[in-house]
Amino acid sequence: MNANADPLEIQKFSELAHRWWDPTSEFRPLHDINPLRLEWINARAPLAGKNVIDIGCGGGILSESMARKGATVTGIDLSKKALRVADLHSLESGVPVRYKLIAAEEMAAQEAGGFDVVTCMEMLEHVPDPGGIVRAAAALAKPGGHVFFSTLNRNPKSYLHAVIGAEYVLRMLPRGTHDYDKFITPAELSQYVRSAGLQVESLRGLGYNPLTRLYSLNNDTSVNYLMACTRPL
Ligand code: SAH
Repeated sequence: MNANADPLEIQKFSELAHRWWDPTSEFRPLHDINPLRLEWINARAPLAGKNVIDIGCGGGILSESMARKGATVTGIDLSKKALRVADLHSLESGVPVRYKLIAAEEMAAQEAGGFDVVTCMEMLEHVPDPGGIVRAAAALAKPGGHVFFSTLNRNPKSYLHAVIGAEYVLRMLPRGTHDYDKFITPAELSQYVRSAGLQVESLRGLGYNPLTRLYSLNNDTSVNYLMACTRPL
């Protein structure tokens, strides 16, 4: 196992992997937010014809949707089971994606500068050294390329919403899905991003209304947020 991976985290996602494409399962939030993040990425970096890598792709919800937009997509993850589910789904849907069991750092050593677009969504809060993943993401991008992250902010409100609300009250997620200590503030992520030689272009919040069960992009980055970056030419 790669040094920058938590075996318990990988195991957690592997155990749930067979339910990845069930939109009523634990992965419902990822299904629900996918159209929003996909359109946000596609507006900033039109995906048709682009070479894209999705780091921590899981069962491939985002990877496959980017391939549907006409991108050539590689999805990488360290959960073998999640990748098997992703592969099967891609075969069934007829939307080709190249899935690989490989660490981001290793992939960066093999295919540095190979991608127009790099995505890494809802994954940084599950790894021991998020800065290392950000550096790998930066190395994978071509000069002039785009890098997109999303993660959970760390403050009392995000604890209340992402842990207590989602895991205990609404029971949208299994208990123990998120470890508050690993949440990352936008300032911390910006620091990782700049140290990796990337430029921050945009920061957006992801809002959730538990009554309507609808998500929206807004300026409130206090819980879940997305960051768009570029690798300078
Ligand atoms: N990015 C996907 C899945 C998010 S779930 C989406 O947003 O739809 C988090 C994923 O990160 C899981 O698939 C888990 O296996 C993966 N993961 C956790 N630690 C990892 C690591 N160190 N390297 C690669 N993938 C990792």
